[in-house]
Amino acid sequence: MSCCHYYASAEGGDTAFSVDTNAITFGKGCLAEAGDVAAALGIRRIALFTDKVLAKLPHVETVRQSLIASGLDVVVYDETRVEPTDTSFKTASRFASEGRFDGFISVGGGSVIDTCKAANLYSSHPADFLTYVNAPIGDGQQPPSALKPHIACPTTSGTGSECTGIAVFDLLAMKAKTGIVSKYLRPTRALVDPLCTHSMPKNVVAASAFDVLSHALKSYTARPYSIRPGPDRPSERPMSQGANPWSDIGCRESLSILGQYIDRAVNDGADTEAREKLMWASTLAGIAFGNAGVHLPHGMAYSVAGLVTNYQPDGYPDEEAICPHGISVIVNAPSVFRFTASASPHRHLEAAGWLGADLLGASEDDAAEVLSSRLIHLMKSTEMPNGIGGVGYCDDDIEALTAGAFPQQRLLQNAPCETSESDLKNLFVDAITYW
Ligand SMILES: [Zn+2]
Repeated sequence: MSCCHYYASAEGGDTAFSVDTNAITFGKGCLAEAGDVAAALGIRRIALFTDKVLAKLPHVETVRQSLIASGLDVVVYDETRVEPTDTSFKTASRFASEGRFDGFISVGGGSVIDTCKAANLYSSHPADFLTYVNAPIGDGQQPPSALKPHIACPTTSGTGSECTGIAVFDLLAMKAKTGIVSKYLRPTRALVDPLCTHSMPKNVVAASAFDVLSHALKSYTARPYSIRPGPDRPSERPMSQGANPWSDIGCRESLSILGQYIDRAVNDGADTEAREKLMWASTLAGIAFGNAGVHLPHGMAYSVAGLVTNYQPDGYPDEEAICPHGISVIVNAPSVFRFTASASPHRHLEAAGWLGADLLGASEDDAAEVLSSRLIHLMKSTEMPNGIGGVGYCDDDIEALTAGAFPQQRLLQNAPCETSESDLKNLFVDAITYW
């Protein structure tokens, strides 16, 4: 029973884990329930967050009409940006403060949902911007109390942001990605409508799916909650509490779905069954990582995305270089899981099996190779970039990438093994190219 053993109590380690999740409605057409849900939450005047592209598509209109039909006063905000920044968060927060709303609804990908979380936070509890931003970059303070109701409607099968209390952004002055983390940021309810996946461009499906895969794989292989030092007070137990039996359930199912459907969903736009399955995998992984936390590849992704200068994938805005979140994460993953496999080989091997690897004859000594090979296979079959070299980095960039990622200690410490600065450097070197 590796599971019981994995959570064996450790000296000074936490002795309990928490299951915190929001209310979720999942199913085709459920975006049309937005008005009834908002009215039941007591909302009268609502800010509808989206972006300029989505604002012209039917999903936003479905939500808007539903809200109007329920008698709500709706104001649309479409100035959110893909990969938000401190500046775009501040602009959105100003809009939210001036609009005197009593509730929020976000319709979009992770960038839109995260922007709405930040706008809700700073308009509900005004403060200097860095007050709530993760330490050591910001003060890492918790908001004093709950925010206004927020209904999150994801239109991509990726970030899981609708289930988490995390908002990620680029801090422009430091050229670094960081975030705000609080249970109060978790949306009040998520409306997850798998019909939204039908119109996603191929590259967006792939990038989103690899974000989901990373969430599930990292939550499953994260440091066990029982090893993380126990909190001084129970209320201070972090959301990134480490792997735990509850999150394991969602990770397992999510990885199995991905193993079965990722290739089909990316390579056949007409395969709506596969795309809808990925939406469910995304929701499951979102619940899981909202209670466990991700680790190394996400920490490394912050600098991969933050320092990118000449990469522009199809399906994304083309005004400037961009490394979409899911791509910035997966390009590090094979390198990282080779490194972490020795900490929990059984788990790494299980995960590889769920993702479709052939485990016949494989022993725990092979876990690193089996899992990284499977990830590389999936990256190739979905035309992902070949490592960080594929998004424009070379040996000369390793120092800067390491310097950008090492401060992400919240993520690094959730890994199953200690990661020194030189370990991190080696992980980037090993991630330059895979095939
Ligand atoms: Zn992610």
